[in-house]
Amino acid sequence: MQNNNNTKKVCTITYGCQMSERDAETLTTISESKGFVRTDLPELADLIIINTCCVRESAENKIMGKIGQLKKLKEKKPSLKIAVAGCMVQQPGLVEKLQKKAPHIDIWTGTFDHHQFEKLLDFVDEGGKTAVVSEEACVTTEVAPLAEKGKMRTNVNIMYGCDNYCAYCIVPYVRGSERSRPMDVILDEIKVLVENGCRDVTLLGQNVNSYGKKDGFAYDFSDLLTAIDRIDGLYRIRFMTSHPKDLSDKLIDTVAQGEHICEHFHLPFQAGSNNILKTMNRGYTREYYLERIDRIREKIPEARLTTDIIVGFPGETEEDFEQTLDIVARVPYTQAFTFMFSKRSGTVGATLPDQVPLDTKKSRLQKLMGLQNTRSLEWRQKMLQGRYEILVEGPSKSDPEFLTGRTRGNEIVVFKGEENLIGKLMTVTITSANSWTLFGEA
Ligand code: SAH
Ligand code: SF4
Repeated sequence: MQNNNNTKKVCTITYGCQMSERDAETLTTISESKGFVRTDLPELADLIIINTCCVRESAENKIMGKIGQLKKLKEKKPSLKIAVAGCMVQQPGLVEKLQKKAPHIDIWTGTFDHHQFEKLLDFVDEGGKTAVVSEEACVTTEVAPLAEKGKMRTNVNIMYGCDNYCAYCIVPYVRGSERSRPMDVILDEIKVLVENGCRDVTLLGQNVNSYGKKDGFAYDFSDLLTAIDRIDGLYRIRFMTSHPKDLSDKLIDTVAQGEHICEHFHLPFQAGSNNILKTMNRGYTREYYLERIDRIREKIPEARLTTDIIVGFPGETEEDFEQTLDIVARVPYTQAFTFMFSKRSGTVGATLPDQVPLDTKKSRLQKLMGLQNTRSLEWRQKMLQGRYEILVEGPSKSDPEFLTGRTRGNEIVVFKGEENLIGKLMTVTITSANSWTLFGEA
C-alpha cells in the first residue's frame, strides 16, 4: 500500500449519526497506528474506509453509489485497498450479496469487529480479500480509547446498542443489545482527551437516560455527568440521545446545577399522535412527553430543545399528522431533524399494513419542515442583541478572516477576532442571524 512519497494515506468517508462518526474515528486511528496518514482526497489514498449507515434507505442508496464510483479508482490504482464497515454491513445476509455486486471491495467488516481491524489490514496487505461480520459483541470488542490530539470537540461513547425496539428502527438489529461502559473507563478516556486539547465532549448513547441500568451499575447517567463535570480543563459536556420515556427529574436537576453541563436536551418525539406512538412502541404518550418538556423549561428556562420526527409511519392519518404539527407549534425547538418513514427489513414497521404513499409522506415532510424553519428562525431572532458565552473553535470555513465559536446551546457564532482566542471561552453579542448561522461581536 505504498505511494510515491512513501507515506501511505487513508481516506475515511462516513455516513450516519455521531455514533457512526465515532466508529469512523476508531477505524482511522487504527490505520494511523499502522503508518497511514489522513487525507480527505480519495484519489490520493492507499486505503479508503467507507463507514456505513442503514437507518434509512436513502443512506444505503447513497453508499451503494459511492461503492460503485470507487471501482474506477481501483482500476486506475490496483494497489488501493477499500474497506466497507458499519451498520449496513451488519444486516443479515447482505454481505454475501454485496461481495458479488462489488468484488473490488477488499474488506467487509461489521460493527462488532473494530478490534479485528488491524488484523484485517495486514491480511489484505498481503493480497487477500475478507469479510468479517460477527453477529454479536464479544468481551474484547471494546477498542482502546482514543487520544486524539488537538481536537477541541470529541464524541465519547458511554454505551453501545439498544434494547428499545421502536417499530421503525433497525438500530437494535445492527448494533446489538444495550451495554454501558463503566464510569472509570469513561473518565479516564475523557481525561486523556482533555490533556490533548479537547474542551467539549459529547457523550453518546442511543438512550443515555438508561445508562448503566441493564448492567446493574451502582450509579446512573446523572452520577456520570456529575463526575465528568469535575474534570479539570473540560469546558462543555453535551449528551445525546435522551429517550423521553426515561428522562428523570434527577437528570433535569443535574443539568440545571452542573457547571459545564450544557443546557441542551435532544429529545426525539417521533410522532405527535398517541395511536402512532403506541404502534411505534415508543413507551410514552404525547401528554407525558409535553409534561417532560414543561418540567425542563420550568427548571431550566434557557434550555435548548431539539428533536427527531418521522412522518408517514404506517397508519398515520391526516389527523395523526396534525398532532405532530401541534407539538412543533407548542415546543420551541431550536432544531428538528425530520424524516420520511423508511421501510427497514427485519423491523415490525416494514410489515405493518396501511403504508403511507410516498407523495403523502413528501407533502407532510414539506409542511413540517416549513413550520420548523419558521420556529428556528424565531428562536434565532430572539437571540439578537443577547450576550452568549462561546467556546472559540477556529477560523471560519467560509471566511478565514473570521473565527467560529459555539454557544452552550450548540449554536455556531461567526465573529471577528484574533487567532489567540482559539480554545478560549469568551462572550459575544449576537448582531445578526440567518437560517443557519449567527453573527456576533466580541
Ligand atoms: N436512539 C435515538 C435514535 C437513533 S436513529 C432515539 O431513540 O431517539 C436517529 C433517528 O432516525 C430517529 O430518532 C428517527 O427519527 C430516525 N429513524 C430511525 N429509523 C427510521 C426509519 N425507519 N425511517 C425514518 N426515520 C428513521
Ligand atoms: Fe432506534 Fe428506538 Fe433504540 Fe432509538 S431507542 S435506537 S429509535 S430502537
